[in-house]
Amino acid sequence: MSDTKICPVCNKAMKLKEAGYPMGSALLKADRVHVDIYTCENCGKVELFEAKSDLVKCPVCGTMHSAKEACAICALNKGLDAANH
Ligand SMILES: [Zn+2]
Ligand SMILES: [Zn+2]
Repeated sequence: MSDTKICPVCNKAMKLKEAGYPMGSALLKADRVHVDIYTCENCGKVELFEAKSDLVKCPVCGTMHSAKEACAICALNKGLDAANH
């Protein structure tokens, strides 16, 4: 397992609690940061890592976004198109 995260406090393997969690979505509408949240069951340490696993590239505009969500750029463009026609 190359993706094992080790607790910096007690050097035990950390457990993946949440993958691809959207951080700051309430504050930043477009620039979301997706993180993998790891916790150490031994000491309770929580560590965040940038999520790379479930990012997909939009075939329309090329924007990288979470596979769990629709492309925000295309949604925005659709809204602009609807306003123009
Ligand atoms: Zn620990
Ligand atoms: Zn797109």
